[in-house]
Formats: sequence, C-alpha cells, structure tokens
Amino acid sequence: MDGLIKFCPECGKEVEILPRFGRMRAVCAACGRIHFQDPKVAASALVEEGGKILLVKRVMTPMRGTWTLPAGFVEADEDPRAAAAREVLEETGLRVEIGELFDVIYGREHKRGASIVIVYRAVVVGGTLQAQDDAEEAHFFAPDEIPELGFEATKRVVEWWLKNR
Ligand SMILES: [Zn+2]
Repeated sequence: MDGLIKFCPECGKEVEILPRFGRMRAVCAACGRIHFQDPKVAASALVEEGGKILLVKRVMTPMRGTWTLPAGFVEADEDPRAAAAREVLEETGLRVEIGELFDVIYGREHKRGASIVIVYRAVVVGGTLQAQDDAEEAHFFAPDEIPELGFEATKRVVEWWLKNR
C-alpha cells in the first residue's frame, strides 16, 4: 500500500501489512508495534493589506512559477499558528500577527504535499516585503491583478476572498 513503511521505526525489523483497527496497517512481527500513518499538516496565512492579498511565487516543483499563499509544513512540536507566522516571515520577510482561523482544507494535491492545510488570517506588524527562502517573488495583489494560482487550496481561499472581502 502506498506510503506504508517497510521497517519498524522501533526495532528496525521488517513489518507485515495486516488488518488492525479497521484497515491495513504496518505491524512489526518482532515487537508488535502497529504503525499509524499520520497526515502531513501545513499552515498558511491569508494576509491582507490595503485591499490586497499577499501571494508568493513558487520556485519548487510542482506548479513552479505559479502563485500561492505563503505556506509550509508544521513541525511536529510546533503550534500551527506559529508555523504560519514563521512561513510568512521566511518566504516574504514580513512579520505577521496571526488572527482567526480562516479555513481547514483537506486533500493532498501532490506526492510531497500536505493532506491538511490550516489557513489563518494574518496582519502585517513588521518586516520588509522581500521574497526569500522557497519563494521567488512576493507581492500584494489587488482583486483585478490576481496572477496564475497554483493548488486548489490557494484557489479556494482566493476565490472566497474575491467574493467576500
Ligand atoms: Zn519492531
């Protein structure tokens, strides 16, 4: 099965794929550990300023060259709100204050992508807009300037924003 581990993270022995708790899971024959696959979680921010929305241009594949909300994976020991603020800073140079939860979007869009994206509203509190890290460009866009968007999660947020801002 896709994504299932082959070796036990506990003892290193080969696992068997067996029915456990309602679905097929990797079970270690040596130590009995059952491996539960966890979702990959990303955090993202809808940052508005002066009636414009902050987007970054991807340098990574897939969807290289398209624009998305600033986003990235949540570390295992990280509050997703902190992850969203960190990603905005890393990609755009802007310091933001994370506000209310905007949306939680389910659905992996590519092999290395997240299966859950948590989107917060955020406002700029400092920093200087300058693309960095894994963004090629970072800009605020007016409703009539929206560039080609990558990923359904970003499209969903931007479409909502265009209708309801
Ligand atoms: Zn084991």
